[in-house]
Amino acid sequence: DSMQEKLHLKIGQGITGRCAIEKRVINVGDIRSDPGYITSGVECARSEIAAPILFEGELHGVLTIESSSPDAFDDDDVRLLSTLSAQVAVGVHQAQMFADAERMAVTDALTGLYNYRYFHERLHSEMARSARYGHPLSLVMIDLDQFKLVNDRYGHLKGDDVLREVAHMVKRNTRCYDESVTVKHTDIDIASRYGGEEFIVIMPETDAQGAAVTAERLRAAIEAGVGQNVGLVGDHGQTWTVTGSFGVAVFEKGLGPEGLIKRADDAVYQAKDAGRNRVVVAQ
Ligand code: GH3
Ligand code: MG
Ligand code: MG
Repeated sequence: DSMQEKLHLKIGQGITGRCAIEKRVINVGDIRSDPGYITSGVECARSEIAAPILFEGELHGVLTIESSSPDAFDDDDVRLLSTLSAQVAVGVHQAQMFADAERMAVTDALTGLYNYRYFHERLHSEMARSARYGHPLSLVMIDLDQFKLVNDRYGHLKGDDVLREVAHMVKRNTRCYDESVTVKHTDIDIASRYGGEEFIVIMPETDAQGAAVTAERLRAAIEAGVGQNVGLVGDHGQTWTVTGSFGVAVFEKGLGPEGLIKRADDAVYQAKDAGRNRVVVAQ
C-alpha cells in the first residue's frame, strides 16, 4: 500500500537503473549502504533484487523486489526472478508484436496516414454514430494538382517526398492526434491516404463551415510550404508550387457511405474545373 507510483528512473539511476545498464541480475543485501540507492518510497526496504527484462538481448524493463530484511535474497531467489523476468519478456515482446501488426494493418506505408481499408471501416462507424446522435459529420477529399508533372519533372522518389510532406501537413492542420494522446474519441479527425495522390479526412462533430475553414487552411499551407520543404526547384531557381483541389461534403440522413464519398469527389472535380487549388463545398 505504501508503494509510490510514477517513480521515474533514468537508465543508470539507482539499483534498477544499474540493472538496466548492466543487463544482469543485481542482488543488494543492504541497499542503504549502496551508493547508487534511490528510495522507491517503501521506507522499510533494506534489501533489493533487480532482474532485467530481456528479449533477444533487448531491454524491455526491469523487475525488482524489495524486502524489509537485510540479505533477504539468495541464489534461489536470483534464479526465480530470472525465470520470471524471462517469461515477462516473452509476454511483453508478443504484446508489442501484436500492437505493431495491428498498427501496420491500418497504416499507409508511404505516408503513415491511415489506409483506404481503415478509412472505409471508420466512415461506416462514424456515419452510424452521426445518424444516431444527430451530430454533424464532414468529409474532405483532396486531390493534388498536376501531380503527374511533379513525377515527370523531379522523379518518382521526389514525388513520394511530396506525398509524405502533404500527409504531414494534413496531420498538422487537422485534429489528428498521435495515438499516445488521450482525447475524446469523437473529437478526432481521421486522415487517410485514399489513392495515389488523393487524401481524405473524416471530420466528426464538424459541419460544412467548420470543414471548409479547415480545408482552406490546409490548402493554403500546402501551397505555401510543400514545394519549398521538399526542395522542388525550377529551371530558374524558383520553387515549384504544389497545390491541391479540395471537395467538402456533409453527411445527411439517407446518404450512404458511397453517396457521401461521391459528393466529396464531385466537389473535387468542380474545384479542378474551376481552375484547381481551391476548396469547393458540395451543395
Ligand atoms: P489533376 O490536377 O487533374 O489531378 O492532375 P494529376 O496529374 O494530379 O492527375 P492524374 O490522376 O492524371 O495523375 C496522378 C498521378 O499521381 C499519376 C501517378 O503517376 C501519380 N502517383 C500516384 N501514386 C503515386 C505514388 O505513390 N508516388 C508517386 N510519386 N506518384 C504517384
Ligand atoms: Mg487523382
Ligand atoms: Mg491529381
